Amino acid sequence: MSRVALVTGGTRGIGAAIATALKAEGYTVAANFAGNEEAAAKFTAETGIATYKWSVADYDACVAGIAKVEADLGPVEVLVNNAGITRDGMFHKMTRDQWQEVIDTNLSGVFNMTHPIWNGMRDRKFGRVINISSINGQKGQMGQTNYSAAKAGDLGFTKALAQEGAFKGITVNAICPGYIGTEMVMAVPEKVRESIIAQIPVGRLGEASEIARCVVFLASDDAGFVTGSTITANGGQYFV
Ligand code: NDP
Repeated sequence: MSRVALVTGGTRGIGAAIATALKAEGYTVAANFAGNEEAAAKFTAETGIATYKWSVADYDACVAGIAKVEADLGPVEVLVNNAGITRDGMFHKMTRDQWQEVIDTNLSGVFNMTHPIWNGMRDRKFGRVINISSINGQKGQMGQTNYSAAKAGDLGFTKALAQEGAFKGITVNAICPGYIGTEMVMAVPEKVRESIIAQIPVGRLGEASEIARCVVFLASDDAGFVTGSTITANGGQYFV
């Protein structure tokens, strides 16, 4: 049996590592992306994984995109809500656009993707929804009120939906990565990055593959009793 897994933002960074790891485990994988065609083409050439372009911030586009994936590959049984953006700025300078774009992608995007897939999972009495939140949704981060609010919202969504899915064979979990060496983090100035690494007990950035292994576990049959949970993978930075 080859389950179908759909990874949003699956062509770069953490999402690409997740998609690749799920494929290696035998899943039939679809990777969604927003607009970087070059990265998507490179990813498919390297992995053979099919890519699908739409914005998770657009509900109608999600409905149409998911319908295309399911027509091509079959019903989505594992959904990894990984797509995310940053539009950082101190709150006194933050624009409404910066706020809204991050909420639309990082929080509403999780609704937009899960909602059209949910009833199918209920009907089939099996599903795995895995939401990639963030350490900054747990602890809050200066300069990221928008991002921290959205990522904390993802954790509330996860815990509430887990209760609704529990008696239908669907688990809903979150992962809170700490700082991972993807383009998102490599884009911050080197000095800032050095100060970030100094706060990580293991003394280095995480690797995307280390988050992917957590996803593989949560997607597996072995994780059937794990729902409403958050896996914190941040190199020893502890936040409740
Ligand atoms: P990257 O910026 O490296 O990759 C982001 C991916 O998301 C790309 O594939 C991008 O597509 C896609 N994407 C962005 N916006 C949309 C959208 N509206 N619709 C569909 N796809 C979209 O990010 P990371 O790999 O660093 O981060 C992945 C997730 O992990 C995010 O949710 C992030 O918040 C979270 N995270 C990351 C941490 C880190 O240290 N890197 C730490 C904690 C959490 P395209 O290539 O087309 O632009």
